[in-house]
Amino acid sequence: MISVFGSANMDLVAYVAQAPARGETVTGHRFRTVPGGKGANQAVAAARAGAEVAFLGAVGDDGFGAEMRAALAASGVDVRGLRQVPGPSGIAHIVVDDDGGNSIIVVPGANGTVTGPSDADLAAIAGSRALLLQLELPLPAVVAAAQAGRAAGVPVVLTPAPVQPLPGELLDAVTMIVPNEHEAAAITGATGPDAALDALLERVEEAVITLGAAGALYGSRSGERLRVPAAEVKAVDTTAAGDTFVGALAVARAEGRPMADALSFATAAAALSVLREGASTSMPVRSEIEDFLA
Ligand code: ADP
Repeated sequence: MISVFGSANMDLVAYVAQAPARGETVTGHRFRTVPGGKGANQAVAAARAGAEVAFLGAVGDDGFGAEMRAALAASGVDVRGLRQVPGPSGIAHIVVDDDGGNSIIVVPGANGTVTGPSDADLAAIAGSRALLLQLELPLPAVVAAAQAGRAAGVPVVLTPAPVQPLPGELLDAVTMIVPNEHEAAAITGATGPDAALDALLERVEEAVITLGAAGALYGSRSGERLRVPAAEVKAVDTTAAGDTFVGALAVARAEGRPMADALSFATAAAALSVLREGASTSMPVRSEIEDFLA
């Protein structure tokens, strides 16, 4: 089993030729709501990629909360650890432009009420092959979950987004960090992915820097280095490409596959996700990933 301790947000997605500048109003082509949030996205990605997944987090007592719970369950995610709290669910306001680029505002809502893992969360984490974390829950809660994973000998995989300063106590508990290139530059202050990778490996055992259409760069403290090109596809919507990548990577690693294979699996899953619109709705199932690799 893979545990994801993280956020659930309803994505409110507007499609527009070009995102508006400050003070500007533009007319979009289309609007829709899609269950998302980095935590829930990674949970769906991992479940579709073929793992048993427990999602640990919170939604509000509004319609979005009920919809998100149902969507996670429909993707095969175990939602027994998803609490309902009074007040609004988290939302993400997303603008997708005609080039497939995006800009996002997250309002935490129920996610902001999560102060740490519950006893049931701790039991789920301790029984997992991997724990996936992101930074859309309050930082003390993320740190406590990471430390619980580390104490139980469970690999802790951190997506450091939205990017913010990372306390030493968090990095001490993380096994693998998976930033995109902007996050890697912000965290390390290094110029270029190779230098950023070196800097990350001073703090964690393994790191993967995702480079969008340029692929991904992996390194481990034991000296292994791998560069994986992205698959050549026509990107329609890159929302949650990184979450799809991490979810699939964790599944392949939990199955004991070598890192090079796991990176190929994750790259295929992420490429399939950018071919379709939306966050969780764009993620491929295992047979699609295997067909793509074949
Ligand atoms: P994030 O979504 O977190 O910003 P990236 O943009 O780096 O992360 O994308 C994560 C992974 O998704 C990349 O390593 C790559 O494998 C895949 N990917 C992203 N954009 C594209 C694209 N345009 N074409 C093919 N694969 C892509």
